[in-house]
Amino acid sequence: MGLGGLATRLNCSEYKNWVKAGHGLLLLRDALQRFAGEQLQAFHQQLISRNSGRLGPSRPCHGRCSPRGKQFHPTCSLCEEWKKEILNHHTNRNGEIHWGNCKPWLWPSNSWEFAKAYMPRGQTDVSGPDKCDAAALLNLFNFCDLFSSIDQKKVREVIKCRNELMHSPDMKISSSWLEGFGRHIQNLLKEFQHVPEIQRTGTRIEKLLSSDWAVNITEGDQLDGLDGEMEDFMSQSQISEIEKELIKERLQETCLLVKEQEMLSEEDLNKIQIIKNFLKDNDDLQKSLQTELQRLEALERQTNDQNLLWKETRKVDSEPEEDEGCPVEKLKRVV
Ligand SMILES: [Zn+2]
Repeated sequence: MGLGGLATRLNCSEYKNWVKAGHGLLLLRDALQRFAGEQLQAFHQQLISRNSGRLGPSRPCHGRCSPRGKQFHPTCSLCEEWKKEILNHHTNRNGEIHWGNCKPWLWPSNSWEFAKAYMPRGQTDVSGPDKCDAAALLNLFNFCDLFSSIDQKKVREVIKCRNELMHSPDMKISSSWLEGFGRHIQNLLKEFQHVPEIQRTGTRIEKLLSSDWAVNITEGDQLDGLDGEMEDFMSQSQISEIEKELIKERLQETCLLVKEQEMLSEEDLNKIQIIKNFLKDNDDLQKSLQTELQRLEALERQTNDQNLLWKETRKVDSEPEEDEGCPVEKLKRVV
């Protein structure tokens, strides 16, 4: 593992802020997973026992009810009833619902398949709360009325932070942003005062965000002793793991973006190029994220081939690209 690479990266305080905030989100995710899973399971059981005639498994779906993206037209009455029930508990039933996340034939037996109807796209292969990311859990809290006792403004603030963090073009954030992020997380966690496990996470996140992660990596594998407590030490390999997880999430999200677009905008192409350049410069990360990177590149090629074909058939002249003071090298032409 290229620890030299890590030390260099962490020498950039804004990148370090990015990783620290990302780590905060991972801790938040870990703390909320169990709570969300248990709440959902109890709610799901309640729905079935109250409506066993409509929602019970006595009339099984034969698996032909397959949603596509935001479209779902059930072909059996059981899925039709479940769809109604999901909409009944949706806080924005006229908005976008990513039915494609769900395997409807599992709704009567699997509470998480039900939960995924309240989440952003990309959840199809996520089988339970323990595999879920922070964004998915926060959206569940936002869109399923089971969680309406949680102050939704606080949930949305953290969702906004999470999006800003994950979409930050160069994976760098300022210290003042990090401070605001810490406040929004703590505000949200106050909503869970009855869950000691989540409260403990609040303390950990507070310590994490105020710690320095000093990068004088000269001896041992220990880094960042805040007040001498063992649990506050982060080893280099632990920090590396966090980086990998965050960048993997970003690559996966970029893949979803590319898959959805018929044509990639200049902004999208830039985002892709920045992350590719970053990985090229950081061999240790590139090696362990090879699969995700290759998947992204394949999708990108596919989209570009389609675009070229489209342009050729319509004889559309492409505009010369501008390069206005952007500090990062823009993508000139792919393919
Ligand atoms: Zn069905």
